[in-house]
Amino acid sequence: MSTYARYPITLEKGEGCRVWDTDGREYLDFVAGIATCTLGHAHPAMIAAVTQQIQKLHHVSNLYYTQEQGELAKWLVEHSCADRVFFCNSGAEANEGAIKLARKYAHTVLGIQSPIIITAHASFHGRTLATITATGQPKYQKNFDPLMPGFYYVPYNDITALDAAIALLDGNERQVAAIMLEALQGEGGVRPGNLEYFQRIRDICNEKGILLIADEVQVGMGRTGHYWGYENLGIEPDIFTSAKGLGGGIPIGAMLCKSFCDVFQPGDHASTFGGNPFATGVALAVCKTLEQEGLLANVQARGEQLRSGLGTIVQQYSQHFSEVRGWGLINGLVLSGDTELVSADVVKAAAAEGLLLVPAGPKVVRFVPPLTVSAAEIDRAIEIINRGMTTLV
Ligand SMILES: *Cc1c(COP(=O)(O)O)cnc(C)c1O
Repeated sequence: MSTYARYPITLEKGEGCRVWDTDGREYLDFVAGIATCTLGHAHPAMIAAVTQQIQKLHHVSNLYYTQEQGELAKWLVEHSCADRVFFCNSGAEANEGAIKLARKYAHTVLGIQSPIIITAHASFHGRTLATITATGQPKYQKNFDPLMPGFYYVPYNDITALDAAIALLDGNERQVAAIMLEALQGEGGVRPGNLEYFQRIRDICNEKGILLIADEVQVGMGRTGHYWGYENLGIEPDIFTSAKGLGGGIPIGAMLCKSFCDVFQPGDHASTFGGNPFATGVALAVCKTLEQEGLLANVQARGEQLRSGLGTIVQQYSQHFSEVRGWGLINGLVLSGDTELVSADVVKAAAAEGLLLVPAGPKVVRFVPPLTVSAAEIDRAIEIINRGMTTLV
């Protein structure tokens, strides 16, 4: 179906941070499957894990235990604030699970009849009906109504607006069950969360006994230089979701929570493919490699290098760019209010020079390379954007 406006490029193979098209043209891949290929392409640890797992056991059913699922769950709870994990296949599905868990908690623990989940404008939570409703961007919802009941939107990073929304919603009867946010808004324009805002939200959730849900689908798994995006904000969510980077490009999602809010009972929620030994075995290899190769330190160093390089581009082309923002290896080059250029123009110019980038909305160019990216590759990316800009201005 015509669901994607694709670039006229057919990709055939990849290695590390590079991919090649069917004409043999090489590209530096700073899209990484949209913040997904944690270890880049054809990483030996992934090749070994995929090969071993398909030979051993790839899928059974959640009727049985498998070691891979147990070990991945163990790794995740040992490296996050969560105690419990539910495995599924994508970010939207993980968020659906979080929404269901929060609603059940509202009904059975908080005694709320009609629970409301507050989400932010410019957020992105997925493409299923519940998650496009949670997504605070009308362009994703248009023509798909009726949407799901039970969501309310507030501007991101605005504590006054949040206080007002809660007061309004709770008027006579307590209704707000959860607040669901990204630690840094990815699709919505690479907008980092504000420290005080998130700390105040944590306090509100504690005071009211409601749940804080972090959508870590894009920023989790080391992308920000910490395992989880919320670590940049000095808070712990009650529930969080992971997907994109978790399997290094093999489809897998996870919904994690603290034990106090794990109200799911056998039969409440399920997924046929979720957590199968293939996906969890590969994700476990990705997690261990992240740790063994010290990739968090690389993400921090390469992130600084990238922001500094992009900073010089902002200075040089100050008419067209206003700022660089982001954490670790999720960064946005923001187009200025005055320029006629849109992010797609910069993406196209960079691709013509051999660098793959992805827009985050019409005015932000997103940089999400594999976490294994080298210093030389960051330098090359900056050179290419400079060359690309000379073709645009
Ligand atoms: C990509 C994304 C999703 C949706 O994930 P899918 O795997 O495409 O369903 C949800 N939340 C955030 C923050 C994302 O970036």
